[in-house]
Amino acid sequence: MIQTNMSKEKVSHRKLSVAVIGAGIAGTCLAIGLSQNPLLDVHLYEAYPNVGVRGAGLALHGNAIKAMDIVSPEIKQTYFRKSHFMANEEEMEMATQIVVGSGQHAGTLIAELGRAKGRRSVHRAHFIQGLLEDCIPKDRVHFGKRMVSVEEMEETGVTPSKIIATFADGTTGEFDVLFGSEGVKSTTRKFILGADHPAADAVNHDGWRCFNNLVPMEDAKNALPAESIEEVRMFCTPLGYINGLPVDLGQTYSISCYQRDDKRSNSDTSGFDASTWGTFCPEVTSLISLLEKEPKESWKMQDHDHAPVYYRGRVAMIGDAAHATAPHAGNGAAQAIEDAAILTRVFAHVTSKYQVDAALKAFDQVRRPRSQKVVDITRNFGRLYSQDEEERDIESMRRQMREGGMYTNAVDMEAQAQAAVLMFMKAI
Ligand SMILES: Cc1cc2nc3c(=O)[nH]c(=O)nc-3n(C[C@H](O)[C@H](O)[C@H](O)COP(=O)(O)OP(=O)(O)OC[C@H]3O[C@@H](n4cnc5c(N)ncnc54)[C@H](O)[C@@H]3O)c2cc1C
Repeated sequence: MIQTNMSKEKVSHRKLSVAVIGAGIAGTCLAIGLSQNPLLDVHLYEAYPNVGVRGAGLALHGNAIKAMDIVSPEIKQTYFRKSHFMANEEEMEMATQIVVGSGQHAGTLIAELGRAKGRRSVHRAHFIQGLLEDCIPKDRVHFGKRMVSVEEMEETGVTPSKIIATFADGTTGEFDVLFGSEGVKSTTRKFILGADHPAADAVNHDGWRCFNNLVPMEDAKNALPAESIEEVRMFCTPLGYINGLPVDLGQTYSISCYQRDDKRSNSDTSGFDASTWGTFCPEVTSLISLLEKEPKESWKMQDHDHAPVYYRGRVAMIGDAAHATAPHAGNGAAQAIEDAAILTRVFAHVTSKYQVDAALKAFDQVRRPRSQKVVDITRNFGRLYSQDEEERDIESMRRQMREGGMYTNAVDMEAQAQAAVLMFMKAI
């Protein structure tokens, strides 16, 4: 018994090896935040051989900016370096405008999400590239490492417990703590919940599919009115919604069309049929014409039903791995950065692997209710956007969107971080 305590004491003074699996926004921000604790030896593992340009343009709302401040000022600097002002001037207030795009109320403004001065947009991949260039030493990032399984070996009398990650290239790694930030199809999620758990796999209850295209900004300027370039405007129709966003420092325009396959009369055929969108308001048809210019990238959108817990032992999940959400409220990346913020603050106080359970519990208790409510709010937004003409109640839409927007954006991140640290301190 005495020997075991002594060996625990010895272990507590060496660095804790920490694996972060998946170099998306969640994993990259988390690796930056955790690395500030000199007792944590943090390594980031990414399945692809490089960052590539995968994914879409993002507009990060105020809660994401508040969370960046908590993780590290460097993240915000990089975000400013890589992103593009949506307005011509930094002082100009902007929001994502939700506008009716069809029927008798076409052109009616329903809501403004994430109103802020100097709003910016960025391509997901450019932001991650910037974070890797500016904030993480190269020897801490391992590309071409697709994790295929994770297991936790229990502590025995002589062997300390460890987490073993196996990668597709046949190598394995042993860690004290592992964070799964591998996105919506997370292996870590299946380990934490059990592969048969009803919430283990992502779902698409409303049949959403996204079509995305990038066009040169000149093409967008020729096709769209100036206010559509300077504002982020989302047009709602019974089939789904469509918007455009400047990315790549304003050189490129990203068009995303979100279609509810379950509401199409020809829903048995997959793919995009521009003619079904042709009856909507002129800005919708102009955006559709840009979408058709190049071959379209398309994917089914998925989110998660609620997980009962975000960790098991010393393995936790964050970002889309924990609470994937559809883009209807534009807050998935913001939620990933909020996760990184809370973990950064709590893990700043971790000095031994015997404190990891308390740290992950505090993270789970603070982040799970909020992130899951954001998933629910987002699903509801999607259903509101795609209401049939006769279902639309403009005032009710406005109220629901105002309440949802307030919940996601007007969060006191500092209070959330302090609550998590307090929970952790009480538990150790
Ligand atoms: C069209 C669209 C528009 C959006 N717009 C917004 C917006 O405006 N604002 C906003 O806040 N959010 C937005 N989102 C949501 C946002 O993009 C995501 O919530 C966010 O990027 C999730 O980040 P993540 O790091 O958790 O996951 P991901 O971005 O999915 O990153 C996961 C990473 O893990 C890697 N990986 C996967 N499996 C493995 C494995 N087995 N081993 C190792 N690595 C692995 C992947 O290659 C990837 O690099 C949007 C999403 C979409 C689809």
